[in-house]
Amino acid sequence: MLKSICIYCGSSPGARSEYRTAAQHLGRLLAARDLQLVYGGGKLGLMGVVADAALEAGGRVVGVMPEHLIEKEIAHRGLTELYSVSTMHERKALMVDLSDAFIALPGGMGTLDEFFETVTWSQLGLHTKPCGFLNVEGYFDSLLRFLDDTVTERFVRAEHRVAILEDNNSERLLDRLIEYRPVVVEKWLGLQAS
Ligand code: AMP
Repeated sequence: MLKSICIYCGSSPGARSEYRTAAQHLGRLLAARDLQLVYGGGKLGLMGVVADAALEAGGRVVGVMPEHLIEKEIAHRGLTELYSVSTMHERKALMVDLSDAFIALPGGMGTLDEFFETVTWSQLGLHTKPCGFLNVEGYFDSLLRFLDDTVTERFVRAEHRVAILEDNNSERLLDRLIEYRPVVVEKWLGLQAS
């Protein structure tokens, strides 16, 4: 049963108001379904929006932030809990440990880095927790097409590609994360041509 959902998202608000609306909706949805939100602990951008929405709706929100970012990113001071860690690596590891599933909302390099590191840990069998993109306004369309190319070009197994969930609707994405059953397959593809 999922109890705790990690959200990776932009420390910027992005160019469209729809990103903010989707972050608010997702924060409220987690609170309504009694799911704890785990995130990077910042109050800026979509990170702040999703945290505020979950808190305002009565949800539990846990932030994980390295000391050196606590001032720079301006930590959210109203969280249920804020973990202070030493490094970015510790932050990512603790966010994964504290969470049962992962959602990427629109964001920048940090969001992509965190999400793909979590996906690669899943491919290597270090965890079996589901990961999905909330594809707001088609923000991830070109990335999802590229992920299809990684399979066509035989760098990624089809089983690993389909294990990365995607939806443009947060309720549906959450349901798909809940229904997800892990597939364990060898990571490495052979040298031989198909
Ligand atoms: P961004 O999507 O770039 O706005 O960043 C979103 C979150 O990812 C913020 O909490 C950043 O601190 C974090 N972040 C940025 N760069 C990295 C990185 N190289 N590794 C891990 N997290 C990062």
